[in-house]
Amino acid sequence: MERLQKIMAEAGVASRRKCEELILSGKVQVNGETVTALGTKADPAVDEITVDGKPVGAEKKMYLVFNKPKGVITSASDPQGRKIVTDYLKGITERLYPVGRLDYDTEGLLLLTNDGHFAHMLTHPKHHVPKTYHATVKGVPHGSELDKLKKGVMLEDGMTAPAEVEYHDINPEGKESTISITIHEGRNRQVRRMFDAINHPVNKLKRISFGDLFLGNLKRGSYRHLTKEEIEGLL
Ligand code: URA
Repeated sequence: MERLQKIMAEAGVASRRKCEELILSGKVQVNGETVTALGTKADPAVDEITVDGKPVGAEKKMYLVFNKPKGVITSASDPQGRKIVTDYLKGITERLYPVGRLDYDTEGLLLLTNDGHFAHMLTHPKHHVPKTYHATVKGVPHGSELDKLKKGVMLEDGMTAPAEVEYHDINPEGKESTISITIHEGRNRQVRRMFDAINHPVNKLKRISFGDLFLGNLKRGSYRHLTKEEIEGLL
């Protein structure tokens, strides 16, 4: 017997905390009875667990790469009614959730899955999965400023780990430049804060790769399924 929220999270319903919320909100039934107590245990091999009437554990594992547009929130719902990532997943009935986050104003590569183990492996800090961004920043940072980012800069939550940084594109008038930066951590608004630390604030941020996976020419707002090789390559 295991706690209901653990069974649900492992079956890929959502994070454990979200599953607790689903239980508390009366959406979960065990053998036809609504359960709202968080301590409830069940046996996944025997008991029939449903969320909103949908059986848990019957879902096929699904892995998508999505090109998130700017102005979309990386979350399963938004109390303020802003656009959310799943608004773009027309035709997908599985309950998918994002692997890590991109800020509201950041665009680019976002993985979505219902495989809790996969998501955990890729977001756990000890795995240091490299993520590359194109950061379009104010002005043109000097080489010595980029060196600071390469070595690590002090942010309010501590030093950043070494990053790979190079010029990608320089606007002819020097008003803006695009820097390619690869980080191996995933702190909140990290890339924006790193460029703030060298006084070149980010005007536009796009994630172009995650581990071995590249965004390529996937159109903004569209998604595709990962191949078996791509899934294995990420783990
Ligand atoms: N760093 C940021 O600042 N924002 C993101 O969305 C991702 C990384």
